[in-house]
Amino acid sequence: MTADGTSTPSAAAVAAAVRSGATKAADVVEQHLAAIAAREPEIHAFNTVLAEQARERAAQIDASVAAGNDPGPLAGVTVALKDNMCTRGVPTTCSSKILDGWKPPYDATVVNMLRDAGAIIVGKTNLDEFAMGSSTENSAFGPTRNPHDTSRVPGGSSGGSAAAVAAGFSQIALGSDTGGSIRQPAALCGVVGVKPTYGYVSRYGLVAFASSLDQIGPFASSVEDAALMLDVIGGHDPHDSTSIPQRHPSLTEAIQQGVEGLRVGRITDLPEGADPDVQERLDAAFEALRAAGATIVDVQVPAFTFGLTAYYLIAPAEASSNLARYDGVRYGLRVDAADTNEMYGVTRAAGFGDEVKRRIMLGTYALSAGYYDAYYGKALKVRRLIHDDFERAYQQADVLLTPTSPSVAFKFGSKGDNPFAMYLCDTYTIPTNLAGHPGMSVPFGTGAEGLPVGVQVLAGTLQEPVMFRAAAALERALS
Ligand code: GLN
Repeated sequence: MTADGTSTPSAAAVAAAVRSGATKAADVVEQHLAAIAAREPEIHAFNTVLAEQARERAAQIDASVAAGNDPGPLAGVTVALKDNMCTRGVPTTCSSKILDGWKPPYDATVVNMLRDAGAIIVGKTNLDEFAMGSSTENSAFGPTRNPHDTSRVPGGSSGGSAAAVAAGFSQIALGSDTGGSIRQPAALCGVVGVKPTYGYVSRYGLVAFASSLDQIGPFASSVEDAALMLDVIGGHDPHDSTSIPQRHPSLTEAIQQGVEGLRVGRITDLPEGADPDVQERLDAAFEALRAAGATIVDVQVPAFTFGLTAYYLIAPAEASSNLARYDGVRYGLRVDAADTNEMYGVTRAAGFGDEVKRRIMLGTYALSAGYYDAYYGKALKVRRLIHDDFERAYQQADVLLTPTSPSVAFKFGSKGDNPFAMYLCDTYTIPTNLAGHPGMSVPFGTGAEGLPVGVQVLAGTLQEPVMFRAAAALERALS
């Protein structure tokens, strides 16, 4: 279902129809381009729409079906890509002025996998600059609007991808999640969003923000479509030394199983801060899983509450190092100056926005001699405590449920001049990234002003099958 209430066929159904020849990929593409033409001027989900490229690709897929070949499990499925994933010859901006004019010389591994599976990329989506933010208000190209209420943010940093799916611009989108950037916008836009186990999906060609936390994952209108997508993009990649070598079990098959006997954990010492309407939906989610045959158990994750603090040392530290390469020499923008040192400075001053500069300064400070042990080193120890606390909880529970976001979508500008208020949006999503575990947000009804609320399902390392089973049960409970 899209934000305006129209229901669209699932990606699974479209792929089946295109593979059998019953539906033309060309028609699927035209429908989505028409949706984009109608509402994109108001929503601004995209930095680049790839209309001609999508049409050419659809023609190839239709020709391949006509010749008796199988284009793959995502045949004719439209996909939007967050604009921090490299696409050969197509601008990849990270919504930053510093990458102005840069066109990658290669495709990210996920882009190759999508192509091999028959998917059609319709465009590159807007984000908070370098994926730093929770509202897309930090984009150098202006914010994306929430399709459910255009006076409100879509969440971030993958706000363009979430909005693209919610507005029916594409059936599936890819985002990246370092501290919640897939799950939080999914919750605010009323779609499914998944952050897999660290290493489940290759990061090759994903522009690095905080390399030990970044993961690519899907947005979709249903749990089944998210499973289909993750089945395609999950797997080992020799180009990414942190990608997990083993094969992943089929999530499309896993969701056929119910939740009878599953232990669902309620974290009794979860940090406070969720609005009453969000809390009410979380309580309803526990009830729904209990009614479906699961057992609810109380667990504790004491270090959960320190996640935000540890993240805002570790992520900026890694970012300060990763973003050092944007100096006007090799990529994008260069502002000329009298000598090279001055050129670095004026280029970076002109190219980066305020939030990115804030992170670079925080990270540089946390890593500097004399402060390293007190800040960065300490944060790494907290990270280990968070991981261990979660592992203990997963001995008692198969999955944990929490709110995804403390509130429904908020108004533009309502947190704009207070970075700490914005950082609090990630209270419930960040600890999972620090632990390296998977997490996903599932739409579970509406809260204040009729806006979507997401429930977060968390699970242990490589426990995606059980996480998806719980998510599918929540979805079924609402239908
Ligand atoms: N909102 C968080 C931040 O600003 C998370 C971002 C992300 O997951 N990319 O860092």
